[in-house]
Amino acid sequence: MDIYNGPGYGIARILIEDSDSNYNYVVWCTDTKECAVIDPIDPITILNFIRDNGLMVKYVINTHCHPDHISGNDPILKVSLTMISKALIHPLGEELIGTRYDFVNEGDVIKVGNLEIKVIYTPGHCPEHISLILDNNVFVGDTVFLSGCGNTKHRGVVEDLYQSVARIRELPNDYRMFVGHDYAVDNLKFALDLEPGNENAKKKLEEVETTISENIEIPPSTIGEEKLYNPFMRYDVEEVVQEIKKRVPDLDTNDPGAIFKAIRELKNEWTS
Ligand SMILES: [Zn+2]
Repeated sequence: MDIYNGPGYGIARILIEDSDSNYNYVVWCTDTKECAVIDPIDPITILNFIRDNGLMVKYVINTHCHPDHISGNDPILKVSLTMISKALIHPLGEELIGTRYDFVNEGDVIKVGNLEIKVIYTPGHCPEHISLILDNNVFVGDTVFLSGCGNTKHRGVVEDLYQSVARIRELPNDYRMFVGHDYAVDNLKFALDLEPGNENAKKKLEEVETTISENIEIPPSTIGEEKLYNPFMRYDVEEVVQEIKKRVPDLDTNDPGAIFKAIRELKNEWTS
């Protein structure tokens, strides 16, 4: 687990053991001790953290409703101190979720104590996907990963994913990216397969491998960093476009969405 403090808030990022390298998050207001839990899969670990830090759960927020992002909802809501606690989801996830939920959508602001968490709609990995912005932090769920992006295997639409990743790419460079899973090593190896000469990707892979060997957590990357090595944010970089064209000869190189889609398809087939 690692903790990030900012003005009036704290963020706990918890890499869950025995999962698909899922990250769970607790975001709290340091003045009121109210908190929101994001994408819980491991309620026991989360509830222990909440108890040890004297926090009260106001909301569980699900970036999307894939089972590994919602399975911890009910146990957390059941024991939360405030009986008004609810799960917040995008309306398109309604049929996938249990009881006690409310909807949030593009432009909504979620209040947790004195904090204001802004919702942006980022479909593509699945139709109900949202991302959350607090200060200079963005919780992107399974839309973007360190050096990668979500797949579209479970209700996804790659054209929408392209639009959402393009939108995340427009956020300020210093925004810290909190992702749904740690797939960093595999993703960086794929990035280097596409761009063997990309020094930033090489450097990042070394950095990530060093943290793993020292048994410390991989720090969250920033939007600015991702633009240097994440192939899904480099669909309009000439070297990347030319490399994809070699592998997909009938590619329309004037269509960034088609290039993004081709990168997604290459990654689907790729094994390290
Ligand atoms: Zn997912």
